Amino acid sequence: MPDEMTKRGLPADGRPTWLACLDRTHRPRWRVVVRKANHSTFNGRKRTPSRYSEVKCLACCHTWRTKAAYVDELPDLAPGETRDADE
Ligand SMILES: [Zn+2]
Repeated sequence: MPDEMTKRGLPADGRPTWLACLDRTHRPRWRVVVRKANHSTFNGRKRTPSRYSEVKCLACCHTWRTKAAYVDELPDLAPGETRDADE
């Protein structure tokens, strides 16, 4: 188990937060955090164009990267909309 997970703890469903949310009832709470770009603290927070987008579930805190078509139908994360207290 990576240190990152122990520090942040696990969401209510017990799955690591970097796995995609599998609860269809959460889908209205899915938001695009980074649309079609890479955005990482490891490269100095530079934004690099990518086919992948980062999606976050506000209901269970899962955050994952995907290039699936449904990203185009999801709204962007609005300022102050995040549920996590630690971000
Ligand atoms: Zn969820």
